[in-house]
Amino acid sequence: MPVEKTVIAEAKECPICHHPETMSQKAAKPLKESGKLPKEVFTSLSHIQITMTDPRVALTVPTLLVYYDACGKCGFPYATKAETYMAPVVAVQQKPRGGFSQS
Ligand SMILES: [Zn+2]
Repeated sequence: MPVEKTVIAEAKECPICHHPETMSQKAAKPLKESGKLPKEVFTSLSHIQITMTDPRVALTVPTLLVYYDACGKCGFPYATKAETYMAPVVAVQQKPRGGFSQS
């Protein structure tokens, strides 16, 4: 089931030199043109994901996802897109840390 995402901010160009293409878009371009990567795939160099409420109270939590990339011309790093969506909570089993601590 695809998760519905809402774009809340999007940068269409470098804030410094106004070049429209990022490094990851530049790298993905030949792959998209040859059909090795779907054209609609959004590329980025990194991203962060932040849950905006306590995940213990629901099965899904409002989540902010911000993508980062670097300008394909001048190299300036900037946030290219921010989205919000309801992310399913995934249970992760914690490793035991040991029962003793030095005080
Ligand atoms: Zn630039």
